[in-house]
Amino acid sequence: MKTAITMKKIITTLAGMLLAAVFSVSMAQNQPHVFINPGHGGHDSDDRNVVIPPFTQGDTLGFWESNSNLWKGFALQEILRKKGYKTSISRIKNTTADDLPLSTIVALSNSSGADVFYSIHSNASGHGEAYAVNFPMGFYRGYTNQPENPNSMLLLSKLAPYIIDNKSTVWSQDKYQEWGDWSFQPGWGTQGYGVLRGNRIAAILDEGSFHDYYPEAYRLLNHEYCWVEGFSFSLGADDYFGRLDLFGEGLVTGTIRDDRLLRTDIRTMIGADKRVPVNGALVRLLDSGGNVVDEYTTDNLRNGIYLFKYVAPGTYTVEVSHPDYFGKSAEVVVNANAKTYQNFDLKRQRNTPPEVVSYSPVWEEGDAPVRCNEPLKFEFNWDMDAESVEQAFTIDPPVEGTIQWEDANYRMTFTPNDAYQVDTRYTVTIGKSAKHGGGTEMVEDFVLQFDTQSRNHIYELAMFPREGSQMHYKSANVEFRTDSLIEAYDAFNYMHVIDKDGNEVGWNKRSLKFNEEGDDYGFLRFPLSKDLTVGEDYHVVVDVEMKDTMGLKLEAPIEYHFTAVDAAETIGSPAVVEPFEAATGFALAAGEGDTPVGTVKVTASSTKLFGSKSLQLAYEFAGQNEGDEMVIDAPASEEHFTRNDALVLHIFGDMSFNHFYARLTNEAGTDDRWVDLGVIDFVGWQRVVVDNLKDVLAADENYSFTGMKMVKNATKMGRKGTMRVDNLLKDHSTGVSETTLAGVTVGPNPAVDYVVASAGSFVTGMELINSAGQTVARNGSNFINVSGVTPGVYLVRVYTNGMTSTHKVMVAR
Ligand SMILES: [Zn+2]
Repeated sequence: MKTAITMKKIITTLAGMLLAAVFSVSMAQNQPHVFINPGHGGHDSDDRNVVIPPFTQGDTLGFWESNSNLWKGFALQEILRKKGYKTSISRIKNTTADDLPLSTIVALSNSSGADVFYSIHSNASGHGEAYAVNFPMGFYRGYTNQPENPNSMLLLSKLAPYIIDNKSTVWSQDKYQEWGDWSFQPGWGTQGYGVLRGNRIAAILDEGSFHDYYPEAYRLLNHEYCWVEGFSFSLGADDYFGRLDLFGEGLVTGTIRDDRLLRTDIRTMIGADKRVPVNGALVRLLDSGGNVVDEYTTDNLRNGIYLFKYVAPGTYTVEVSHPDYFGKSAEVVVNANAKTYQNFDLKRQRNTPPEVVSYSPVWEEGDAPVRCNEPLKFEFNWDMDAESVEQAFTIDPPVEGTIQWEDANYRMTFTPNDAYQVDTRYTVTIGKSAKHGGGTEMVEDFVLQFDTQSRNHIYELAMFPREGSQMHYKSANVEFRTDSLIEAYDAFNYMHVIDKDGNEVGWNKRSLKFNEEGDDYGFLRFPLSKDLTVGEDYHVVVDVEMKDTMGLKLEAPIEYHFTAVDAAETIGSPAVVEPFEAATGFALAAGEGDTPVGTVKVTASSTKLFGSKSLQLAYEFAGQNEGDEMVIDAPASEEHFTRNDALVLHIFGDMSFNHFYARLTNEAGTDDRWVDLGVIDFVGWQRVVVDNLKDVLAADENYSFTGMKMVKNATKMGRKGTMRVDNLLKDHSTGVSETTLAGVTVGPNPAVDYVVASAGSFVTGMELINSAGQTVARNGSNFINVSGVTPGVYLVRVYTNGMTSTHKVMVAR
């Protein structure tokens, strides 16, 4: 904001400036008087700077709207004087002091005695390089078609045709938009634009083009381009004042561009602006006698603009030459007081044949094989004719792929759609029929060869859930392991859990866990965003798009079916042998030899299935030796197991693939027995049942629970991890060895009327067996009526496809 004091000072200085600026010719009758307002000034915050190379932010030589507005204003002043007008101008310098308040400019306009007022600007979309918006628009005061001063609307309509007929630029829409400022800025009421408000003469504001459309910003750096816009204003004034026939000279102008080379310095362009403007082209204007009338060399500011001013009417030849291009000429007709546009598209002299100057992969016999999805890249010495190169391109054995061109067709990339074959020699040829942009072919074929690696896909090492598995319904995690590191950033898009109705169960993306550089294998662990429904079937799908960090994909999609269960469900009332509520007394036993095989940190964890805690075992084996054992001693349980009992332990697995055991010790402490709890091949809680201790324990002895044991597996998995155990139970053995087949389910549980079995294959029969081992009901179908049996725990045998699956069910009333 300017203070009142400085404003006074500016007005005083301006009075003197105006005297100097106003050109007075002899006071001829009807001499029109034009007031010129080149918008903005001073390279300040209210000016408009577009930062384009080679200029940096704030460089006053770069694009500033105040610069181009002033050049347009100077041109208009010069041309109007030649045409016999009287002129006033609001600034002749580009300093902060000359950037007058708009109300001051209006006061000067009103007191100048001028007939019309032109405020000269260019426009901005505010989106810079991202938008290709370029069209002219202008404003008078009032509503559109309801101007405060009808002469203002007339003045704008007389100017518009001479602005829109600019053929040096490329418009995004071919219409000059004429607006009343109150309609354009409806939020401002009838405030309108400051230089139009209170202006008592015919007054307009013109936004000639969009200066933040970058090709236009480069043109506006050219004084002659701005000069032509000044000439267009003069034509508008001539038309308004009925003076079009009074001036006897015209002009020739245009833009010189490469005929095909694409511009790569700007992101968004329209039409011919996509091609490179030619810097340093010599343009000569020759009269009909072949005499050079004028010459112009295009500047180095990437606009290709040339101009010949004040040319007498007649027929001329415009001749363009440049050391890198074939010359070109065109005949033009110049009319009095009119613009002649003549653009040139020059053909480059590509004076050597095209060739591949660099490429990848660079491979020689004996080199390491190439990745099976390696893109093929070629760089040429010339901009290439894409079609002829693509036709000349072959790869053997054939591979489907995508070709992309970059850098104005100097660079080509072939990306295979799927991986190359493994352990294969590929031969890639660009035949010599490939042409550069000038149409010349290569001298010889270009050939490259490479061998591929022996791996072209990512492979599943393990997954949970697997086909037919059961998964604890609450806070479930899906884990997927692969032989190489998974590209994790968008992996959640390629793995899905789907319920029985086909709806996806989402991931809790904030809690994803995935492999890091240096891990032994790839993994993703995705927590589900909500709990599953007990008893319902789900499936998990991994898309082929799942990639490793080298971009190799799965060979085929993976799909596994699983069932949600409640691992805490107990049938009957088994005795709790050990609730694992505290870690007191649990510790890693000393191993054999001097070197410990690993460490286990035993703590109480709130990730539990029963009570308030579980027992957490955070272990780390020292190495990857198969069979290394770590024993965790436990306080001896008061409750005893005999060979007639079943042992139930709830285990939170970490998919270590290590073998897990429970130790039972006789009362004398002389006999340790290991109960095999199986391989930890799951994630989350599972109820692990050893139904029959008859094969493990000695007769007539009572055994306490005294510890657990973890045995390292043969793979790289399970060297370190965290597992948990909760409630160790003692149940009555059914006396029948129980084998539960994956994929066979039995329910409901507890059952009242019927028990129904479902399996992947045909169920041929079922048997209901009581705790004494007697069959109490049977049926040759997939259901069995239990309404007549005594409530209690039963075994259900399901016969399917020659196999038998046994399940424990409670019958209740
Ligand atoms: Zn402006």
